[in-house]
Order: sequence, then structure tokens, then C-alpha cells
Amino acid sequence: MAKFITKDMGNGIIRIEGQGAVGMYLVIGENKAVLLDTGLGANDLKSFVSTLTDKPVEVYLTHGHLDHAGGMYYFDEVHMSHKDLSMLEGNSKKDRVDYLNLIKRFMGKDEWTENDVCDVRDVNIIDIKDGEVNDLGGRSLTAVDFSGHTKGSLAFYDDKSKYLFVGDCCNNSTFLFLEDSTSISHYLGSLLRVKEEWLPKMDAMVICHDYDIVPEDCLDNVIDCCEKILNGTDDKEEFVHPNPMFAGMPVRWAYEGGADRKDKKFGNVAYNYKRVN
Ligand SMILES: [Zn+2]
Repeated sequence: MAKFITKDMGNGIIRIEGQGAVGMYLVIGENKAVLLDTGLGANDLKSFVSTLTDKPVEVYLTHGHLDHAGGMYYFDEVHMSHKDLSMLEGNSKKDRVDYLNLIKRFMGKDEWTENDVCDVRDVNIIDIKDGEVNDLGGRSLTAVDFSGHTKGSLAFYDDKSKYLFVGDCCNNSTFLFLEDSTSISHYLGSLLRVKEEWLPKMDAMVICHDYDIVPEDCLDNVIDCCEKILNGTDDKEEFVHPNPMFAGMPVRWAYEGGADRKDKKFGNVAYNYKRVN
């Protein structure tokens, strides 16, 4: 099995999927390229990316989860919100191998060991602030605070494709129950800000898991989920997830059907029902 699968999305954007069922995006400008997220750190991402562009590559992370930040150790320098720095403790080789063995999807092998993932090493981590603009030459990426899924979650708006790359910030399976997630009301504030400021400018929202471009009502559907959770009128469906990591947690889905909503709408939220505020 190929170590990485790529999809040319046009407009100088390449989606890269490595091990761990998570996508990363390479956005190529005239002077430099930006890699958004780094996957789990199994197989040499840095060398692979150098086969896709001859431009210098800067690395930006949407958030600190191990399936997005695990490959950062291939690089000397990355940019991410320092609000997610403490989460990198959950990025050890053991954590990443456990994760690979848990999800057993798009794996290419039956059993993963610590020899298969990159070492944790010192990397220069540069903080990103909301509104920061990175000029790549002929296009620019703007960092957008989209805190909720994690406290330091960021989206990136590309003014050439008019795509908003949202990481795990807003999708059909938005996890808001995690230790590092914000309150629902804080997240709703992020959603409404993105809707007001960025929705009029964007052509599409792009996510990392299972899909690239998502249906255009995703943002509104997730806003609706949060409003329903906060006023107690959501479906309150029990969260049953194949990942044993989540067993026994007090989690519900806002809408019935989980990632594949029964009403066929795209966008759902899983939240901790003991922490609704
Ligand atoms: Zn995540």
C-alpha cells in the first residue's frame, strides 16, 4: 500500500492522506508552500512533501491532536496556537502507535510498533494569532480563531481558492466532549463569528476526516446543533463510538445518527452532557 495518497484539488492545493485516516493539505504559492497539518508521523512526510513542490515549505497546524500534529517532528519549525501546547504531551510515540492500532483503518499493516512512527524531538513552535496573514506569493492564508474542538483550534482561509480549511473545527462528527474542548457557548461564539466574517468570502469549507469539501450548509447545521444542545431540545442520542478510547464517557450526539445523521443533514456535535454550558 502506498505510504501516502494524494488528490490534486486544483488551484495549487493537494490533499495528502497518510496513515491514520486523516488528511493534510499542501497549499502552493509562487514563493513558498504551506503544509496544513502533519498526520500521525508514520512515514517520512517531509521527504514526501518535497516530491510535491520545489518551493520552501512552512508547516501550520490546525490544532494539537496527535493525528494532526504527530508528524511535526519531521520538521525543524512549525506554527500552531500556543493554547494547544500542553496537548502535545499526548503526542508520544506510544500514544500514536496505540492510536494507529486502535483505528485499524487505512493502515496497510496489521500491527504498528514504535519503530513505525517518528521520534519526538525539539521543534521550534511559533505561536499563531487570529487574523495573521501569510503571503505565499499570489495567494495568502489567514489564520482564523475557531476554538471549540480544542482551545487553540484554528482555521485557515485561502484567498485564491476561497476555501476555509477548518481541521476538526466543524464537521459531521465535531467532538466537543474532549478534555481540551471549550464550552458549547464558547464554541457557538466561534461559529457565529466565522459565519459573519468568513462565510460571505468563502466558496467552500474543507475538513480533514473522511471528506475534503463539505456541503455548504455544514456551518449552519453545526450552529443549529449547538443552539439545540444549549436549550435542551437536541435529540440527545447516546454516543456509541467504535473507538474504545471513548467508552464510558458521558457523551451524546446532538442529532440522531452520529456522523451520518438520520435526517441526512451534514454536521453533528458530540458533547459531554454533564458539562453543558
Ligand atoms: Zn482533533
